[in-house]
Amino acid sequence: MQKKRWVTEKSKEINRARNSTQARQHKAYIWKKDNGFCRICGAKATTMHHPYGFTDYPALRTDMNNGYLVCDKCKLWADRKLEQRGGRPKKEENK
Ligand SMILES: [Zn+2]
Repeated sequence: MQKKRWVTEKSKEINRARNSTQARQHKAYIWKKDNGFCRICGAKATTMHHPYGFTDYPALRTDMNNGYLVCDKCKLWADRKLEQRGGRPKKEENK
């Protein structure tokens, strides 16, 4: 079995970035902006989606225009859309 060191290093870096003050402020801003509801279907939002993926676009992580609220269902949809665009590879999806 091959150890993927880069994943560890990269996820550490991403975790740090996610927990940064800027990221928290960005998140708070987006939640307030979208009022706690999914931007796609209008259901109660559960998470925030970055159209420009957190991993691939470090410069846009806390861009106020990069982010909107989604529910679980739409999050999957949004991620898939992104994937089709070649935006972000998702390892857990094998379909
Ligand atoms: Zn939704």
